[in-house]
Amino acid sequence: MVENSGVKGRIKRFLKSCRCSSFVKDYLFTSNIRSAIFVSVIVAVIEVWMLIMMFSGVIEDSNNYTAAWLITHTIAYTVLLVSSIITLVYSVLFLKNKVSNKKIGSVIKLLFSIILILFGLYISYTSKDRGGQVFVFITVIIIVNCIFVWHPLVSFTALTVVFMIYMFLQNKLVPLSLSLKVNAFTTWLAFFVTALNSHHQQRVEAQKDEELNSLNLFLQKKSLIDDLTLLPNMNYFYKTVGEFIVDEKKSIDDMCFAFMDVENFKSYNEKYGFAAGTNFLKTVAQIINEVFYGEIIARFSDDHFVAFTDITKIKDKVAIVNERIQKKENLLQLEFKAGICKLKDRKDSPTLACDHARYACESSKKHFGRNIVEYDCKMDKLFNQKQYIINNIDSAIEKGFVKVYYQPVVWAATGKICGVEALARWEDPVFGFLSPAAFISVLEEYHLIHKLDLAVMEIACKDLKEALDTGFPAVPVSINFSRLDFELIDPAKELDCCITKYGLSKSYIHVEITESALSSNDEKLKTSLEVFHQNGNSLWLDDFGSGYSGLNVLKDYNFDLMKIDMAFLSGLSENNKAQSILTCIINLANQIGVQTLTEGVETQEAFDFLKSIGCLRLQGYLFGKPMPKEEFTSKVSSGFYQV
Ligand code: C2E
Ligand code: CA
Ligand code: CA
Repeated sequence: MVENSGVKGRIKRFLKSCRCSSFVKDYLFTSNIRSAIFVSVIVAVIEVWMLIMMFSGVIEDSNNYTAAWLITHTIAYTVLLVSSIITLVYSVLFLKNKVSNKKIGSVIKLLFSIILILFGLYISYTSKDRGGQVFVFITVIIIVNCIFVWHPLVSFTALTVVFMIYMFLQNKLVPLSLSLKVNAFTTWLAFFVTALNSHHQQRVEAQKDEELNSLNLFLQKKSLIDDLTLLPNMNYFYKTVGEFIVDEKKSIDDMCFAFMDVENFKSYNEKYGFAAGTNFLKTVAQIINEVFYGEIIARFSDDHFVAFTDITKIKDKVAIVNERIQKKENLLQLEFKAGICKLKDRKDSPTLACDHARYACESSKKHFGRNIVEYDCKMDKLFNQKQYIINNIDSAIEKGFVKVYYQPVVWAATGKICGVEALARWEDPVFGFLSPAAFISVLEEYHLIHKLDLAVMEIACKDLKEALDTGFPAVPVSINFSRLDFELIDPAKELDCCITKYGLSKSYIHVEITESALSSNDEKLKTSLEVFHQNGNSLWLDDFGSGYSGLNVLKDYNFDLMKIDMAFLSGLSENNKAQSILTCIINLANQIGVQTLTEGVETQEAFDFLKSIGCLRLQGYLFGKPMPKEEFTSKVSSGFYQV
């Protein structure tokens, strides 16, 4: 740095190309080679022409030439012609990458230049009209300049030396006047400045190119690396795997895609904080990098990684990574898991194979000790169904494949219908009948659930309106909203609009929110739920007792009714504890002014018990499974159900 600053440094830099980076040197050398091609072609053509001219002159008037003159001139022209051809051949081969030795190139250029200068001096000095051939000299100087601009110091020395010799020789022939000497000096200066100028320009261009080039390289590298873990990213992964697969020389017999996940990583973040979580992720990445050393790996996203690896060794590798992760963190139950998908064909899509491996990995979740799962036919069927659901939810709603079934809810005291729950069904022409278990979680995962919930809400309101219009004894409908709906849409506003659209009474629509969706400190959700109340809709807590939030939920949110999860009814008859718990829950609800509904009532015995402990409403197969609207209305019309 010190050397390069200040006037001294600038001059040094200006004069010494050896301070340049290798990129700039290469650039200058290549641009020199291009000049050499032009120059050598011109020189070769001129020399051929000169030889022809000379011999045709001899044929016309042989008395004008001495034998010695002819021989020396023929030799001079031929030597220059040959050296220009050699320069041309080398330069063309270099540009075509057929030769790469720059030292040979420099020697050729140097020899060509020396021959040119000597030729210029010789022709000019021996010209018949005593110095009249000065233009030959000037021409070769310009030509040499073109080749030598890469090195100002060489240009400077060469020009000065050649000019001195020329002046000396000319002075010997005919003593030069002062004005001629001054003019010659000016010419030398002009050549020298031209040499410096072109060199400078070329170097600036080379440096600009170098900067662009290094920026480009940096961006290229960055586009293939994951910023957080410094592992390769998916761009790199798909690119490299793609190249591997199409390479017929490489065997793909045992190759598979592995999608890897640190299960329960969320709890690490919760326990130690986000920053510590990030650091831990870097450690995991490092372990994976070491265990899968030399193989194609990448960070997929979050705590997910992928590898293209040998299927026969993957099990051991996953076990090693798992062990090392658990050594680093033994308080939490972290488990390193992999889903694998074997590569069957060179035409297989790496993206799809990774998706399959991911699907296999997801299916291993919550199965302790099941660290490797291979993608199989059964999974393939479910995977295709999942993709179908994601891609077709819009058209299924539009074409009416999404249906609403109604399940009756009865008063425990009388057994008469007090309402129905609207439950979604998907009757598909390709996949047949799909139950909510098949599509609700998929739609939630892909943030599409609001589409279904809005469709169910619309159909339920429309059905209710039709029933009321026809004078049918209509009953209130409860509608399920997913926790995610509150992030994707404004459910209270949507419901309000829909109720207004069909001119319904607010009290006819109840809203169900699942307990597991609620956490005690979610102020935003609390406010959203309050809006349902303000709008006049009854708010129901679904699946009470199935989640972890427990009694806090009752304290933090204002629910009008709690739906007690059907799990409490299992083993009711032989389990006194279950009876006590249910009794306590119902008493508690009554004390805090929350109505009760027990789900999953399948037996008369459960019915009698729930009635005896004061549960207000009941729902379950004993009273009816979810059914199409037509079936429900006909059962009401026939008196099977009493409203
Ligand atoms: P959920 O809201 O708790 O609905 C009650 C589920 O229990 C229904 O299953 C119903 O068929 C079933 N069930 C009712 N009585 C009995 C019984 O006596 N025994 C047994 N074994 N099961 C009974 P379904 O319709 O398959 O729905 C499953 C879940 O899917 C629902 O649970 C709900 O969480 C979700 N779901 C259904 N429709 C929608 C919807 O439109 N939107 C949203 N977000 N979720 C929905
Ligand atoms: Ca429900
Ligand atoms: Ca429920």
